This record gives sequence, C-alpha cells and structure tokens, in this order.
Amino acid sequence: PAELAHNWFVGSIDQGTTSSRFLIFNGAGDPVAMHQLEFENLYPKSGWHEQDPLALLRSVEECIEGCVKKFEEKGGDRKRIKAVGITNQRETTVVWDKETGEPLGNAVVWPDTRTTALVRELKEREGAGELLELCGLPLSTYPSSVKLLWLLQNDEGVKRAYDEGRLAFGTVDSWLIYRLNGGAEAERQVHVTDGTNASRTMFMNLRTLQYDEKLLNFFGIDQGKIQLPQIVPSSDTEAFGKIASGALAGVPITGCLGDQSSALVGQCGFSPGQAKNTYGTGCFLLYNVGTEPVISKNGLLATVAYDFGKGRKPVYALEGSIAVAGSGVKFLVDNLGFVEDPSRVSELAESVEDSAGLVFVTAFSGLFAPYWIDDAQGTLFGMTQYTTKAHIARATLEATCFQTRAILKAMEEDSGHKLERIAVDGGLSNSDVCMQAQADIAQIPVDRPAMRETTALGAAVAAGLAVGVWNELEELNDVNKVGRRMFMPKMPKQKAENMFQKWNQAVEMSRGWVRE
Ligand code: ADP
Repeated sequence: PAELAHNWFVGSIDQGTTSSRFLIFNGAGDPVAMHQLEFENLYPKSGWHEQDPLALLRSVEECIEGCVKKFEEKGGDRKRIKAVGITNQRETTVVWDKETGEPLGNAVVWPDTRTTALVRELKEREGAGELLELCGLPLSTYPSSVKLLWLLQNDEGVKRAYDEGRLAFGTVDSWLIYRLNGGAEAERQVHVTDGTNASRTMFMNLRTLQYDEKLLNFFGIDQGKIQLPQIVPSSDTEAFGKIASGALAGVPITGCLGDQSSALVGQCGFSPGQAKNTYGTGCFLLYNVGTEPVISKNGLLATVAYDFGKGRKPVYALEGSIAVAGSGVKFLVDNLGFVEDPSRVSELAESVEDSAGLVFVTAFSGLFAPYWIDDAQGTLFGMTQYTTKAHIARATLEATCFQTRAILKAMEEDSGHKLERIAVDGGLSNSDVCMQAQADIAQIPVDRPAMRETTALGAAVAAGLAVGVWNELEELNDVNKVGRRMFMPKMPKQKAENMFQKWNQAVEMSRGWVRE
C-alpha cells in the first residue's frame, strides 16, 4: 500500500491517563499502524488517584508488540522503524529504588488531591511568593513537587529509601525510558527527562531549563538523597538510550515530550500565536508564546512547549489546564451507569436542545485554570423535576466548554491577542455535540483535524527530527491538513454570555464544601 511506500518510519509511545498507545508514522506524518490498551486507574480514597507503574510499563510493551505485529501484517518491515518517541501524561509522580529498579508503590496521578492540606501549608511558607516567577506554576495540588513531598512525609518505604540514598524520582516519561532501557540491569542506567516534562515538577527553572536550588530548597529536597532525572532536550540522538528488548530491541528512543506539548507539536503550532486545545481525560489549551516565557497574571501556567536542541532556542507556551473533561464523561459511564460507553454520552447530550438550566461544576479535583480553587467540589446546580440524564450529560460536556472560555479570556489578557480559532484534538473532540457547544459557548470557530492522534504525532516528530526523518519544522507544514472540520458559533452572543455568567456563579458556589 501507498502509505508503506516510505523509506523510514517512526514509532510513538503515547502513555495517557486513560490508555496507552503505540503508533507507527510514515515520513508524511500518516499513522500506518496503532495498538491501544486501557489499564486500571485506582481511586483508593476520595480524592486519591493512583496507577501501578508496572501496569503502565506492561501496557506500553504490549502496545509495541501489538502494533509492530499489525505493521508487519500490512507488509511493513520493523527494521525500517528508525526511532521511537515518547509522550506521556504529565505531573504523575513515580518513585522507585535505584538499586533494584522496582517501584516503591503506586504512582500518584496528576488529578490526585490528597495534597490539599499540604498545599495550604506550603502557601504560608517563606518564599512561596517567588515560585511562580521561577518555574511558571502556581502552588496547587497539580505539580509533581507536592506529590513527592507528600510521599516523603507519609510513606515509610519512600522515606526510608530517601534517607538511605536509594530513592529515584521521575515523571512517567523518566520511568518508562529507564525501564525500556533495561532498568537497574542495563549497562547504562538512563534516568532522564525533557524540559516539557520537567517544567511540570516545580523543580525546574523555566529560563535555564535546569533544576533550581531555590525551588528544591523551598520543598526541602536534598539532591544528595534523591536521584532526579537529568533534564535534556526533547529531541536527541543519544540521551534517551534505546529499547532493550522485545519487537523493537535496539531501536533508539530519540524524542520525549509531555502530552500537551506533544499535541501542540502534532498540530504544527510552531509559530507564536498558534494554539491547540486537547480534550482528553482533562483538557489543556496551549498557546505558543515564542522563545521567551510569559508569566501569567491571570491564572494560566507558563510552560516549555518544546526544546528541539541542535542550537535551536526552547519555545514556551501559556497553558490553561482543566482537570476534568473526558473523565467527567467516564464518570457518567463508570460511576453513575448512565450509558454503556463514552460515545453514548454524546448521543444522550445531543437528544436535548440545551441543559435546561442545569450547570455541572465538575470539580472532582478542585478547579484548575484559571480559577485554582483546591477545595471546590463537584456540584450540580439547577435540578428540577424536569431534569433527565440527557441534561446532565449535556451539562457535563458544557463544563469543559465554559472553562475553556474562561481560559481564552485569561489568554487574551495575558497575551494582548485574541485567538481567531482553536485547533482541537483528544478523545472527547470526537464528540460533535461537544465541539459545537464549544464553538457556541466560547464564540470561536473550532477547527478539528481528520487525524486526531496529534499527541502521538508530536512525539514522532521530536524523534524523527533527531534522526533526520525530518530536518526542518517546515517539512511538516502539509501534515494533517486534509479533511479538517470547522465548527462555527451558531448561538447568539448574548445567550452565550448569559450562560457563562451563570457558570461563574456556580463556580463561586462550589467552593469550600468540607470533605471530612
Ligand atoms: P488521555 O490521553 O488523557 O488518556 P484520550 O485523548 O484518549 O485521553 O481521551 C479519552 C477520554 O475521551 C475518555 O475519558 C473518554 O471518556 C473520552 N471520549 C473518547 N471518545 C469519546 C466520544 N466519542 N464521546 C465522548 N467522549 C469520548
């Protein structure tokens, strides 16, 4: 087949919050094979969210095997896979014993809110006011630093390993790269991360792209007792080592990007002013601000968009993070048993004209950008005898759309520039009714590509740039341009405004409900 008539292919590991995937892309940026597996998310207590690091690793290895098999069944040749890139859920915190290479418990996943009280305490600590300027992130339950600190304070095994100097810390990229290279048994122990992932820990200085003593000291992290991953460029021929075993044994890993950065790259958002919004488990709007970071005054995050090395300057983004998007849909399916699967939630929402005045503040992890209310709780406002599942489904989808509108407003204020459209992707962007609601509520055209595996594509691009499958970003200009669909706002402006006002009123009322 024509799609296989390419010299070189690039593999992409996409380790998300809900599932893992492995895709193989050809030199035109088209996916030619894919394998996807869900794994178990654990919610051991209210507000806790964990994953088994070994289950994540296994799912990735099985995806690689499954995808290479499909590729070869189509006539592909695994020897033509020149490199592999990796993209991953960010902030999720993994700790392991560097002597054995084994995890010291479950990963603390990014929306976990066990650190709410700790964060309240940290905000009072001397120096708290200087963090945002240094690392671009506000203190909240979201970054890895507070998750690691919680483990050091509350988990005996982690504490002991720290005191004995055996503790290794990493985000999911670091953990997977370490183990894919062979872990503790490998000749060369590869413990690295890239700037896009490290910029989510709160340990990295946004301008130097290296660990900052001031930040580490604030959290009381002693580098003599804990091994932190070395921060390297997102695209590199050597730093990430190579896959040690399995179908792709010997293939180098040459790209690494946090998932949201990867989606921006996959959408070819290479110029300042370009933006994308990814509707996955959560929803994340990234706006390219160029080679100087912009520290937000309006509740957005400053983060590294990508750092392709080879003398190129790192590129930064302003980010609006929403904790609950697709996970709200999953909540209706898994917890409330509304329908059988997520796509049915869309159908349900589509069966009604509007939410009949219902507003669902889906604050299961507090509220992230631009509100940052750690103690907000999920709250449904406006129920009447008339309310049905369909209205709740619609209100669930609309919750992400309202938060996106609030983020767009903050972006406009921070950047002095009004976005003309948003490029979208992610699982929930498959929902036409959600995308139309987004265009209506935010009064902005929504531009959806035909190929929505943009997150995986971004990591393939980072990997391919390192090994010469692509040499310049301009070579990617034609990727994923055919078959895009534009959702135009149809709702009158005033109506959207009134709905947004009601949403903001609901946000205020969702604060401070005491959990215990
Ligand atoms: P992640 O990368 O965070 O694992 P994905 O981009 O794979 O997330 O998106 C998965 C999420 O998208 C799930 O939470 C699921 O509920 C939602 N989703 C997927 N397909 C649909 C659909 N057709 N309609 C509504 N929601 C969907």
